[in-house]
Amino acid sequence: LTLLQTFVTLAANDLYGKGSLVLGCSLRKHKTTRQLVVLITPQVSQTVRTVLGRIFDEVLLVDVLKSQDSSKLILKKTPELSLMLAKLYCWDLTRYSKCVFMDADTMALMNIDELFEWEELSAVADDICSDCFNTGVFVFKPSTDTHKALLKFAMEKGSFDNGNQGLLNSFFSNWAKVDISKHLPFTYNLNCNSVHFSTLKPQAAAAKVIHFLGKTKPWNYSYDPNTKLVKDHDLSVTHPEYVYMWWDNFTSSVLPMLTEHGVEEATS
Ligand code: UDP
Ligand code: MN
Repeated sequence: LTLLQTFVTLAANDLYGKGSLVLGCSLRKHKTTRQLVVLITPQVSQTVRTVLGRIFDEVLLVDVLKSQDSSKLILKKTPELSLMLAKLYCWDLTRYSKCVFMDADTMALMNIDELFEWEELSAVADDICSDCFNTGVFVFKPSTDTHKALLKFAMEKGSFDNGNQGLLNSFFSNWAKVDISKHLPFTYNLNCNSVHFSTLKPQAAAAKVIHFLGKTKPWNYSYDPNTKLVKDHDLSVTHPEYVYMWWDNFTSSVLPMLTEHGVEEATS
């Protein structure tokens, strides 16, 4: 019996659910041979769950408040860690031999199945010259022991930024200096809002995964499906071509399914 491999994402509400749907469609469009799993929290509506079920092989509800492990205790003490605790459940997917986690605000521009050849914990640097990795895309190996160790670590040390980025960087602290073979090329997690984006031009030309890191996500803009124009975006701060690409994928692949299930007739 060979264990399967899977991409994993997380949606803690309907908006990030839309992001997950675009991500899932982008992986399918580029013909991934791996499975697709989405972790959802109780905030995600029934309709969005149903549509997620059409793209993803598994839609798994993660309810930290009802968990049997120490994450419930951590949540009581530090409620702001709820997203991080939900994300950590990806290590419990032990029926899979290896996984690639991707934020719901990422999108694949081509087939990236070769990521499964990398070992835990492989990731891209948070920015050029950074000693931290970005947790928007990472390769990992599910293990209940690792999940327990991460929770223990979170309980004892917390996270330096109150999020998963700080926790995972402290836990996988060898990444920066020792595990150089686990440094993924920037093309696998290209932050289109980086101030260094222009110096990353060669990588951008070969981009495999775009990450809409930061406060404004593509779904926060409004889009006119008739004129195909994204409205009220600030051209000086983002790379509109990627926002357009996201909306293009959303309107062609995701919106018809949402409409079919009675969610939103118009997006703008
Ligand atoms: N997330 C979510 N709901 C939220 C915030 C975050 O589902 O309200 C999940 C989602 O998978 C998202 C990830 O947590 O991609 C990390 O958050 P985000 O991408 O907003 O952070 P950034 O990459 O901008 O630092
Ligand atoms: Mn993100």
